[in-house]
Amino acid sequence: MKINLAKTAGFCFGVKRAIDIAYKTLGNNKNVYVLGNIVHNEDVARNLEKAGIRKSGKLGQGRNKIFLIRAHGAGLNTIKKARKLGYKIVDATCPMVKEIHKIARSWECKGRTILVIGDKKHDEVQGIIGQLEKRAIVIEGTRDIPWARLKKIKKACVVVQSTQDSEKAMKIIQALEPHIKELKFFNTICRPTRLKQQEMKNMPLENDLMIIIGSKTSANTKRLYEISKSLNNRSYWVQSRKDIKPGWFAGIKTVGITAGASTPDDATEEVINYIKKIT
Ligand code: SF4
Repeated sequence: MKINLAKTAGFCFGVKRAIDIAYKTLGNNKNVYVLGNIVHNEDVARNLEKAGIRKSGKLGQGRNKIFLIRAHGAGLNTIKKARKLGYKIVDATCPMVKEIHKIARSWECKGRTILVIGDKKHDEVQGIIGQLEKRAIVIEGTRDIPWARLKKIKKACVVVQSTQDSEKAMKIIQALEPHIKELKFFNTICRPTRLKQQEMKNMPLENDLMIIIGSKTSANTKRLYEISKSLNNRSYWVQSRKDIKPGWFAGIKTVGITAGASTPDDATEEVINYIKKIT
């Protein structure tokens, strides 16, 4: 059986950068706090906690402490609050996410309502809408478009969560275009996500079975799995080798493997070695 590993499997530069910043910050100060997991991967978060990062649900007194902003970014209120509480801020927001913040803020200043295509509860989306003065409208899919609210809007600017599916975003734009007179669209899906998704449009057709490795909390891994599953019913989303069932490989000649942007190479290697062992 042949195993084909995606060229784009694993860490994107934004996640790698955030992890590097976290370890570097820990080198100088052991009082480093982060709200939630620094990236959406439990192994990475656990290793950072072992190294000293303190995961917190909310911010307390911040004197002599550092508040580390995650790769997904944070809203302005969170940052202001951290400063007020006395934290020193270290910003590990991915530059691609920062760019979305910049676009959304500047077009809001030009009088446009900001529409965000993305998952309402995702940290990145919360961070984007948290950059704005007025309330943005988040759209998750074509079935979720709030037509009644949009009727009053003549000028809008649309940005997209960096890890969304390009095709889904374009369908939403096509649905919006006839209804909003001045619609400015920025396709802010990041390049690493696009490349991963592009690869995922071929691999499921070229392999008998697909394994997508990543945390169940990872939005980009979910998207890769959804694309793969739509093209190849034998697509499986696993967090580690423990989720793999030997029965999946009966009669299989080729296995395609990819991993989300926050999945460490160790996890991918472990899965590959395990598949080799059981087949
Ligand atoms: S997925 Fe894209 S936006 Fe998110 S951290 Fe990686 S490079 Fe940055």
